[in-house]
Amino acid sequence: MRTRLFIDGQFQEAASGEIFPTRDPARLTEIAHISRAGLEDVDRALAAARHAFDHGPWPRMSPAERAELLRAIADRLESHPDLAELEARDSGGTIRRISVMDVPWAVGTFRAFADLAEHTPEEVDLPFDERAPGRHVVRREPIGVCAGIIPWNFPLLMAAWKVAPAIAAGNTLVLKPACMTPLTALELADVAHRAGLPPGVLNVIPGPGEVVGEALASSPLVDKVAFTGSTAVGRRIMELASPTVKPVLLELGGKSANIVLDDADLDVAAGAVLWAAFIHAGQACEAGTRVLVQRSIFEELTQLLVERAAALRFGDPLDPDSDLGPLASRDRAKHVAAYVAIGVGEVGPPICGGAHPDGLPEGLDREAFYLPTIFKDVDNRARIAQEEIFGPVITVTAFDTDDEAVALANDTIYGLAAGVQSGDVGRARAIARRLQAGTVWINDWHAFDLRAPFGGYKQSGIGRELGRWGFESYQQLKHIGENPALEQASHPPLAVLGNAV
Ligand code: NAP
Ligand code: MG
Repeated sequence: MRTRLFIDGQFQEAASGEIFPTRDPARLTEIAHISRAGLEDVDRALAAARHAFDHGPWPRMSPAERAELLRAIADRLESHPDLAELEARDSGGTIRRISVMDVPWAVGTFRAFADLAEHTPEEVDLPFDERAPGRHVVRREPIGVCAGIIPWNFPLLMAAWKVAPAIAAGNTLVLKPACMTPLTALELADVAHRAGLPPGVLNVIPGPGEVVGEALASSPLVDKVAFTGSTAVGRRIMELASPTVKPVLLELGGKSANIVLDDADLDVAAGAVLWAAFIHAGQACEAGTRVLVQRSIFEELTQLLVERAAALRFGDPLDPDSDLGPLASRDRAKHVAAYVAIGVGEVGPPICGGAHPDGLPEGLDREAFYLPTIFKDVDNRARIAQEEIFGPVITVTAFDTDDEAVALANDTIYGLAAGVQSGDVGRARAIARRLQAGTVWINDWHAFDLRAPFGGYKQSGIGRELGRWGFESYQQLKHIGENPALEQASHPPLAVLGNAV
């Protein structure tokens, strides 16, 4: 398979003619060769996006017309025959999860933002107020050319979360997918144009983050940059965006606490802990990686976690029976193993995992897979409890009181998500209100509502995606104030200078 950059409504070679491979991490095989974008391609993509915004039809269409097109994109994604398989092969995610979560949620994202485009009034007339007589109108306008930079863990869904709100609000976009997983973002661009999106509105240019990502974040032609990825790169994006004072939307790392209270049903709670932590081999920014367990149930719950983790089935991501596939690459698995070595130094050997799994089906690359790994009795200040590992590794820490659980949960630079597992709804809700996290799940995890905001407290990010909050972040506000006697041309403006009053 050979894929090119998507610029100005068509697939194009990179200016340099360079190509790079993308791999199926489960087998280590190359599945496609892709044009590698460089600085000239950034310029071409930005020129196309700029032209589409400054002179094209998209920002000038009515919100209802834009909504109709977003729904057409959603329909085409929904009926796409091999989108889920493409995503599973490129990212190593299991086809089961991608079919029931990633694809339907990507489709739902386009529909949700179509609804928001249609139902958010473009102009609001403020009610008359004699302290500011005259007519005061607040308009919502698109921001301009947006840049989206996304990671490799949920490539299609992250593309949808960047593309749908930006275009729904009338902006144009240059999207840079991660080099490890560019295929579904390119496919999305093709689908969108087949549905009728005008050329230049969505451009997709896979290329190295240090080159393409940095050029986008710093370009004076870009009016807003939205980034999902590591906190380290998020800091860099802010720096690069500052000379041109671009708004930034940052969805960064996490080290989310999952609090298990002594009144929880232990079986259910054990399932929730594994689900929170090990989806996509732990490569989710909102993963519940710091498990805080009330002391009276600590030993019993830990034992259950070990038993249940051992029963998870490893396999080919394309096999619908696989619970767990590989990490996104061998390098990611090495990175996890390095953190496990740090953990062994800090707290001793894990109580399960800490190795590549045995007995994988023929043809799979064992070194890309890693067992669910549990470290017990971990001091919350240990590196493995503070640093984002982005793999199937959890720390388990005991607490005595609810106050202590809250203090431990909040003792982190991150604040993306948190959770409370409990049989007492009132107690769980009281704790949820005290947690410093953008999303808190009670007796659940990864339960996204496409109408609700998603994003982080503290160093997990700036701003929110999804819902009307996400939509509004792709708009800017304009106040048009009309003189009370606008119709009488002779009426002087209110002024305190000279003879104007
Ligand atoms: P990353 O370096 O932050 O990469 C995310 C995206 O940013 C990729 O498209 C990457 O491009 C690009 N990028 C890299 N350096 C850049 C730069 N200097 N300027 C602009 N863009 C740049 O993440 P990673 O290294 O792949 O993953 C490592 C860590 O990221 C994980 O351990 C985890 O903490 C975090 N992460 C978080 C999320 C999340 O959803 N919040 C998702 C994935 C990863 P290329 O990769 O193509 O070069
Ligand atoms: Mg790949």
